[in-house]
Amino acid sequence: MPQPLTTELLQWFLINKRNLPWRKTKDPYFIWLSEIIFQQTRISQGIDYYLRFVEKFPDVFSLAAASEDEVLKLWQGLGYYSRARNLLKTARQIVKEYNGIFPSDFSELMNLKGIGEYTASVILSVCYEKPYAVIDGNVNRLISRLYNIHDFIDVPAGQEKIRGKADKLIDLQHPGDFNEAMMDFGAMVCTPQNPDCNHCPLQKYCKAFEKGTVNMLPVKSPKKGIRKRSFHYFLIRTKKGVLLKQRTEKDIWHSLFDFPMVELNSEMSLNSEHLITYFGKALNSYKLIHETKHKLTHQELSIYFYEAFFDCIPRGFLDVSLNELNKYAVPKPVENFLKSVFQLTE
Ligand code: SF4
Repeated sequence: MPQPLTTELLQWFLINKRNLPWRKTKDPYFIWLSEIIFQQTRISQGIDYYLRFVEKFPDVFSLAAASEDEVLKLWQGLGYYSRARNLLKTARQIVKEYNGIFPSDFSELMNLKGIGEYTASVILSVCYEKPYAVIDGNVNRLISRLYNIHDFIDVPAGQEKIRGKADKLIDLQHPGDFNEAMMDFGAMVCTPQNPDCNHCPLQKYCKAFEKGTVNMLPVKSPKKGIRKRSFHYFLIRTKKGVLLKQRTEKDIWHSLFDFPMVELNSEMSLNSEHLITYFGKALNSYKLIHETKHKLTHQELSIYFYEAFFDCIPRGFLDVSLNELNKYAVPKPVENFLKSVFQLTE
């Protein structure tokens, strides 16, 4: 028998559940795709991406047959590009090793690229009705408040406590609905700011409400330092278009394309020595035409764009015509810059 709290939560879910495109199916391909897209991405921001992926790749076979560039291009703007690369690797593995059918076993799912405990639990509970509780930010917050848990939720001991509570609450007959209900309730009622405690059907079970600690929860460990970097990009026009360079280093934006670039320590400013080291002596002149900041989870980038003029065009870069620029997956700040300079459209 489910606990009374679970029963009330599921009743609330029946009436209030979010109408999301992947909720209309139990097909693991769509559930998996949505989960990968919405890791680190808000639903409002990612929904168009999900719809575009589904339209272009309606099943795991079509995705597996795509090239990495095609997938990265469709992913462009979502950030955390390793998700897109893993998406493709996993699609290929599912086709090759599982004949296109997602495994229904926890450890087999965990062996696939980009699938962790969270995504494996969603697939198992929603698609195969197995009792694996899903813990995301919404669930962390809701459980911390329901049980007045003041441990750091982002360290293993805190996670274990939250998981223990979720495992006790899960409805063994309807684990998929239970997980989605927890996530929706956290997103719609027990929100980070101004949770709707006065109309909350779980208020009578909520220890944080009883103790007046709702706004203190959940508790996260203090933030790690932010790495500051400064990127100096060079827009180099050629007869055909502009020069691009693929990022092959083990770093952010791996495999995406950007401009020839000099990275400096954030306290240093660019001088001609740096440019001679990078381009040799063919550089004639350069001028700053745009600057911007870009924040990532643990990095803050100061980005400078220069137009650079050469006596002879440097070698070793990709010469891309303006008509073809749209085909290359580029990082968000480069995309914005290209749009402003060349008025590119999708
Ligand atoms: Fe969340 Fe408030 Fe409901 Fe407690 S009473 S579960 S804090 S919305």
